[in-house]
Formats: sequence, C-alpha cells, structure tokens
Amino acid sequence: MRNIPVQQINSVGPKLAEKLSDINIHTLEDLLGYFPNRYDHYEQKPLQDLVHNEKVTIVGEVINEPVVNFYQRGKSRLMVTLRVDGAVVKGLLFNRSFAKKHFIPGETVSVNGKWDQHRLQITIDSYKKGNTSETSPITPIYSSKGDIKNSQLQKVVKQALADFYQEIDEFLPESLLASYKLPHRREGLQHIHFPDSFQQLKHAKRRFIYEELLMFQLKMQLYRKRNREETQGNAQQIDQPKVNQMIQSMPFILTSAQSKALEEILNDLQSPYRMNRLLQGDVGSGKTAVAVISMYATVTSGKQAALMVPTEILAEQHEESLKQLLPDTVVIRRLTGSVKGKKRREILEELESGSCDILIGTHALIQDDVNFAQLSYVIIDEQHRFGVQQRNTLREKGVLADILFMTATPIPRTLSITTFGDMDVSKIDEMPKGRKPIETYWVKHNMFKRTINFVYKEVKQGAQAYIICPLIEESDKLDIQNALDLFHQLQEVLKDKATVGLMHGRLSTDEKAQVMDDFAANRVQILVSTTVVEVGVNVPNATVMIIQDADRFGLSQLHQLRGRVGRGSKQSYCILVADPKGELGKERMRIMTETSDGFLLAEKDLELRGPGDIFGVKQSGLPEFKLADLVHDYRALETARADAVDMIDNERWNDSAYQALFHYLAEEVDIARQLLN
Ligand code: ADP
Ligand code: MG
Repeated sequence: MRNIPVQQINSVGPKLAEKLSDINIHTLEDLLGYFPNRYDHYEQKPLQDLVHNEKVTIVGEVINEPVVNFYQRGKSRLMVTLRVDGAVVKGLLFNRSFAKKHFIPGETVSVNGKWDQHRLQITIDSYKKGNTSETSPITPIYSSKGDIKNSQLQKVVKQALADFYQEIDEFLPESLLASYKLPHRREGLQHIHFPDSFQQLKHAKRRFIYEELLMFQLKMQLYRKRNREETQGNAQQIDQPKVNQMIQSMPFILTSAQSKALEEILNDLQSPYRMNRLLQGDVGSGKTAVAVISMYATVTSGKQAALMVPTEILAEQHEESLKQLLPDTVVIRRLTGSVKGKKRREILEELESGSCDILIGTHALIQDDVNFAQLSYVIIDEQHRFGVQQRNTLREKGVLADILFMTATPIPRTLSITTFGDMDVSKIDEMPKGRKPIETYWVKHNMFKRTINFVYKEVKQGAQAYIICPLIEESDKLDIQNALDLFHQLQEVLKDKATVGLMHGRLSTDEKAQVMDDFAANRVQILVSTTVVEVGVNVPNATVMIIQDADRFGLSQLHQLRGRVGRGSKQSYCILVADPKGELGKERMRIMTETSDGFLLAEKDLELRGPGDIFGVKQSGLPEFKLADLVHDYRALETARADAVDMIDNERWNDSAYQALFHYLAEEVDIARQLLN
C-alpha cells in the first residue's frame, strides 16, 4: 500500500495525480492517511438541546422571501427566516447572495452551521433541500489546501477504499488490537473517512491516535537503544571514597531524593554508555548540589566537566557555590560572553591542556574555538532555554561526554515523554527539610499601596524583597507597570527608609553583577526587576516576591519567580498583583494561590495554555501529531510508551507477531532496518 501510486486508483488520471502531488499525496498510503479535518453531519436536535457556538443542523420551513444586504465592496449578507418547532430562527449566509433562490417560502430546508443560542440564529455553512437529517451521512471535510476540491477528494478516497480495501494490511499485533479493542487498519481507515456513526468514528480515531503515538515512541526507544550501544567505552573511574568525603563535608545532609538522583547519575557516569539524562526538580529542591557532587566525581576520574547555564548571573552564582563546596585543588573557570582577550585565551589554553577541571559558562562555551582535553561530562541547566541545535553542538564537543539536562521548570509527564522520550529521567520530588511553604496571595492593583507597606514592614525586620514587572520601560500600547517607573516611584516613596535597586536585561553585564552583588549583600533591600531574575538566583534573605501584572505570565513562569523566595528559614510571601479580565486569568491566579506543586502547575499550564506556551514550540522540539493531542490523549501516550519500551527492551522484532510492525517501521527508520537484518 505504501508504494502503490495514486494513479492506480480508478478514475485518477495524470491531472488529478498532479493536483494530489501538490498536497504531498503520492501513494495510496499518503491518500488514506490524509485524514478529514472535520465532518459535516445533518443530525437534527430539538432547539433547546443545541449548544451555543457549536456546529448544528436545523430543519425548518422557510417563512419569508430571504433578504440580501450588501455592505462594503462586494460583501453581502443573506438572511433567511425559518420556522422550527414553532419558533422562529434566523439564518445568515455571508457573501453567498446567489443562494437566495434555494430558500423558497413554504419549503423545508436543512441547514448546517454555527449556533448562536442567545439570538436564536445560525450562521449557515451548508444547506440542502428537504429534511436530510434522517438519511444524511457523516461527510468528511478535508483541509482545503492546494487546488483540489473537497468533493473531489471525497470521491478519490472513496474510490481508493473500494479498489484496494483488501490490500490494506494490518501491522499492529493482534494481541494489542484485542486488548485495546481497536479496529483493524482496514476498517479504521474506512471509518475515519466515511463513518456510519460517531461511535465508529471515535473508535477509528482511537486506533490511529494509538498507532501514531506508538510509532513515535518506538522511534524514541530506538534512538535510546542506539545511543547506548554506540557510545560504549566512556566509563569513568570515579574515586568513590573521595566523593563520599566531599558529601560528608557538605553543610547539609542530602535528602533521600537527592541521594537517589545522585546515585542514578553516578551509575551512568561509571557505565560504559553515554548518559542522556534529565534531572527534574522544583526550584530549591537541591539540583545544584547534586550537579556539583557529580561534577566532582568526574574530576576524581581525571576528566573534565562543563556546566552550561542560560545567563551570566547564573554562571557567576554557580561559580561561587562550586568554589564553596569543592576542595581547593579543583580548578574551576568561568567562560561567558564578557570574558575576553587575554583572560579568555588563558582559559582556552587551560581547557586544552586539561589543567582546568570544571568550566562554567553560557553559550560562550559552545563556540568553535573552545576545545577540551577530555570533556567527559556536560550539565545543561534550565535546558529548555537552549535550542535543540545548541544542545547538539555541545554534545558533539566531547565525543562521548555524558550529558545531564537539569530543569526547574517541572515538565509535565506528557511532554517529557515526547520531547525527551529518548532520555532517562531522574526526579527530585522532595524539598530539603525545614522549608516553610511560601504563602501566596492574589490582590488587585488598587491594593498596591498596602502591598508596598507590607514590603516595607518586612524590610524593617531585616528581610528583602523582589518586585517583578513585565516591562522595562513605559509602553504606549500596554497599560502595564514598567520597571523603570516603579523604581523611580519607590525610590521617592521610600527615601531614607530603604534602598531600592533596579535590574533588567538592558544593563551591561558589569552593572547586572553589581546590582546582584548589592542585593545579595543586603546593600539593596528592594529589587525592582524584570524577569531576568527568574532562574536560579539565590538570595536566601529575600522573603517577599511581588509580581506586577501577574496574569501576563504563565503558571510555570510565576512558579519560577516565586521560587526566588522561600530559600531561607524565614516565612516567605508571594503576592500576585493582577486584575485579569477573563475567567481564565482569574482561574490561573487562583491556582497559583492554591498550590505550590510545580508539577501540578505545569500540568495546569499545559491544559490552560497549550504546550507552546511552556517552552515556545520551536525550541521544544515537540513533535507534531496528526490526530493525537498531548493534553487529551495522555493516557494513550503513556500506553504507547510502555508498549514501545517493552518491544525494544524485549527484542520483539524477533517475534513473528511483531514482524509486520517492525517491517513497517523499518521503511521509515534506518535503525529499525538494521535490527531486522
Ligand atoms: P535548585 O538548584 O534545585 O534550585 P539548589 O541546589 O540551588 O536548588 O538548592 C537551594 C538551596 O537549598 C541552596 O541554598 C542549597 O544550599 C540548599 N540545599 C540544597 N540541598 C539541601 C539539603 N539537602 N538540605 C538543606 N539545604 C539544601
Ligand atoms: Mg539551580
């Protein structure tokens, strides 16, 4: 079926084949895999059962001669009135004045379109004479790209199914079909294009959603398998007593979640396979501590490690904490965009000679002239801020380097097993003891003065505060608080009472570092800032986080910002200042006040705003699915994942029931092809 060209379908000549080819349909498989976007169906329901804003079908008698209004240039509106169940319903057709002749007073028509419950009005997409609701089929509507009409596509698909029905082969194992009660491929294709009922359609869709997710997960598992096999030979000889000694000397005892994650990482480092692991943990859960110990482990094996972070501030902070935690014998260097000239050259030399053990840096770390003597371990912090490209470049620097991605943006499981489906995952799901949960409040803008009073009260008791604004400067378009204005206002109001600092992305690196130093040393009590302080910044004495226009941020981002406080032993507060207009915005503010579980928030974010908003779709490397929806089909996704893992780990390709599936996969994926040979 894959290789049958569309020309072999009866009635498809060169001209139609060409049109099909324009929308990337070359083979029978392409054609039958071109699923309808939606379906038209003339099914009549009583008026009171119709749902506002949904597509509905109405059957009624035309009451009057329809009226056409012309407005603007070439635009028209045709209005028909229908008697339905004794009520009068208005029907509107836009720019189709020619349809007037089809609505003859006294005759019955069936119309299909979007329903306005309040106005008893339907915006008509399609119409037919008579009462079609009893006999009408569910009609597929294909996306109308290219030069081919919907009716033409319907015909070709129907013909293809008629001509080749018997040739559509199943490739999923019977046992899986049976246990999930999925229709056969043949039947599924028939029903997804021309369902007899919505029930049938639902089952057909279930089948193809599963198929799609399974194929995707199989590919991921194959990559994972290849990655393991190709990278044999990079086992590190860790000096465990030294590592233990370092753990002993830390100012705190690791939580059991930290210990477990560390153990998983150290196992990977010592194994002959390349590590490809994601370390997830809420802000403040102690990921950095785990990272430091594991880098030290690499150093004890005589190799180099690198830590890549998204901002210069973070690079500096990490350098500080590393120097504090690690023995003086470990040589740590920092390479960021602001390190230039002689200093930079020196560091490059130390890297090449191997005398530098640990390199911390931003993107500057992946420039072409940065070469390591033996880079064996790379940690990428807050990885979603790096593009896929950059991740790969770094990966290629140290040929067999183990890679750990760290993220404090809890990634919903649905996303982590798609975007990071080829990775192993460690999770720190426990906070260090003694942390008090942050109290979160949502207030309206008219409470801002009281909010500032509250900040001042905390500051008087020795604590510090962040105030986050979405913008740096005043904007004509948006009536939202900007950092500069607020900074000047507060300086004025709190003159002689507290020192206010200003931080934003347009400051130079030195200026930023100066402001952060001042804040860390409590020379600045209140820091007005844009979201540059979002990730990683660690000032335990800060107890108040005010977020202006909080409804402009996503839940995950708000959670990140909130994580800047609550890092010490004092009670901390997060105050969201927002007057959201819509219900959705209000809902999001409520969720923030109710939960401090980052994973839950991430799931909510995904539900409320979709995956693109969590990462930005391009960077995320999120796959595009034809039918599957990562939010709604997460159960199918989990199932498909488990099945794929089983198939690869248990080498099912040797099993006759799975032959067809792996042969199908092999046509797309060369790794699968190699397995079969
Ligand atoms: P993350 O990187 O996950 O945001 P960090 O590693 O920066 O978290 O840890 C946050 C704070 O908690 C730091 O001040 C760190 O020293 C401290 N910390 C880390 N692990 C523990 C622990 N097991 N017990 C007590 N404090 C800890
Ligand atoms: Mg951190």
